[in-house]
Amino acid sequence: MTTSTDHSAIRITWIGVIANLLLTLLKLVVGVIGKSSALIADAAHSLSDLLTDAVALWALKVSQQPKDQNHPYGHGKFESMGTLIISSILFITGVGIAWQSLQKIDNPVTPDISTLWAALISIVVKEWMYHATVRVGKRTNSQVLIANAWHHRSDAISSVAAFIGIGLSQFGYPVMDPVTGVLVALIIIKMSITLSFSSARELTDTQPEEEVNEKVDKILQNIEEVVNYHEIRARKMGPYLLVDLHIQVDSAMSVSAAHQVAQRVQLDVLKKVPIIHEVLVHVDAEEDTELVNPKLMRSQKEIEREILDRLQNFNEIDQISHILCHFLNNQLTVQITINLNPDMTIRSAYKIAEKIQERVNGIEDVEDVDVHLELSREHKFQDLKFHLPQT
Ligand SMILES: [Zn+2]
Ligand SMILES: [Zn+2]
Ligand SMILES: [Zn+2]
Repeated sequence: MTTSTDHSAIRITWIGVIANLLLTLLKLVVGVIGKSSALIADAAHSLSDLLTDAVALWALKVSQQPKDQNHPYGHGKFESMGTLIISSILFITGVGIAWQSLQKIDNPVTPDISTLWAALISIVVKEWMYHATVRVGKRTNSQVLIANAWHHRSDAISSVAAFIGIGLSQFGYPVMDPVTGVLVALIIIKMSITLSFSSARELTDTQPEEEVNEKVDKILQNIEEVVNYHEIRARKMGPYLLVDLHIQVDSAMSVSAAHQVAQRVQLDVLKKVPIIHEVLVHVDAEEDTELVNPKLMRSQKEIEREILDRLQNFNEIDQISHILCHFLNNQLTVQITINLNPDMTIRSAYKIAEKIQERVNGIEDVEDVDVHLELSREHKFQDLKFHLPQT
């Protein structure tokens, strides 16, 4: 969005706020003096619009604030909280207005003709607001503004109802004024229930209605290294979505390679689904199992030390360059890479490997031993070298 379209969007929103404020005052004053339940109900409707606009503007500001220490997930939930509070106020207002109008049905009075004029002004202003807002909304391609515009039009319809009710009461059906008052109050109640449901859904982390899972599905299916995936979860944070998911990668992949796949998933999702603002990718090496084998839960450093211990005084081994533990299929396989004397024959290297397997296999939790020969003299994992005490 450029600054100028941003500007016109904010300006039309503020014009809407001011129009609602003036209409509320006009209809309330004229409604009370002219004794029209329908017009008072319509004034309450405009007041509730004013409140929701105020919360929307406030929430927009707060939820755009960057994360801080107290709100590490951002400030998006403030919008839902604000909406929930406002919708409760609306509900009470709606019930109050409906109750007041019902009281007057038994004993209706014909409202003053000025109330009819006030309703007409409200219709004209609201219909004009609809056209003005929808124009800016279409130009700036803003869904929020277009939704706002339609809200203005539904307000115009509420004023049309008040207008008809007051009009009929002028023609000798005074009961139509409070009846219309009840109808308009029901519109306010319905609005409050819809709002409170949507904010409650957001506050309780209900799976959002947006079709995010399908979109994320498609992205994951197109990344070759993702063998499988599960547990795609999304939750709403104000206007944004937070997503977390599990991917399964080749079990022999290194941690850094798996992290690279996770990063690609993350970047792709953020790029292709703009409503998602954060992605957390958990990497699995195999299908998740429920059970945790307590026997396989000891420290890998401890396993390394035990292996080194068993390979002591093994003079044929020049050096051990890597020891890797693989915890797959509920068992432990250790992969040991060694340097040998370059003049040695491959046949004798096999013999040494067998001896290593024999010794290391004796370790209780080791199911399988995989011996590899290191053929690069210098490589980047210098710090991983294990020096065997030679005798
Ligand atoms: Zn998993
Ligand atoms: Zn990371
Ligand atoms: Zn190596």
